[in-house]
Amino acid sequence: MSMIDDVWVNAKSAAESVGKKAGKVLDRSKLRLAIMDVKAELSKQYRVLGKLCYEAYKTGKDYTTGRQSLLEHIAELNKQLDALRDMLANSEKKVKCSSCGTYNPPKALFCSKCGARLIVKSSGEEDLSQQELLDFAETILDEEEL
Ligand SMILES: [Zn+2]
Repeated sequence: MSMIDDVWVNAKSAAESVGKKAGKVLDRSKLRLAIMDVKAELSKQYRVLGKLCYEAYKTGKDYTTGRQSLLEHIAELNKQLDALRDMLANSEKKVKCSSCGTYNPPKALFCSKCGARLIVKSSGEEDLSQQELLDFAETILDEEEL
């Protein structure tokens, strides 16, 4: 097993634990933390990819298989990051532009980036109670700071 394989296996198990954590996130601060975790993991993976590339150049060995699984892993992390960002935006009632993907303030009618008309979905009851819970949590946090 080469040094690169080793790095990759370690990074992969770290990413898996990040994934498990992300499944449990309930509130915004945890979502933000999870996003930071996945972002950190992503930049680590990009570095591994760079190392792998250099190693292949230096040794002249074929790393195609390792590179392929690493790229798939990076794609998976990016998917996770998108999902987390969606969850965060939803909890903040932001409206995602269907044409360019930009998140806009809750009551915006047009996208601030591309100008497309935004379709505002009516929120379900589950959404609302979660929002109320979050607002309540924030009230408590605000009081603690006084
Ligand atoms: Zn847009």
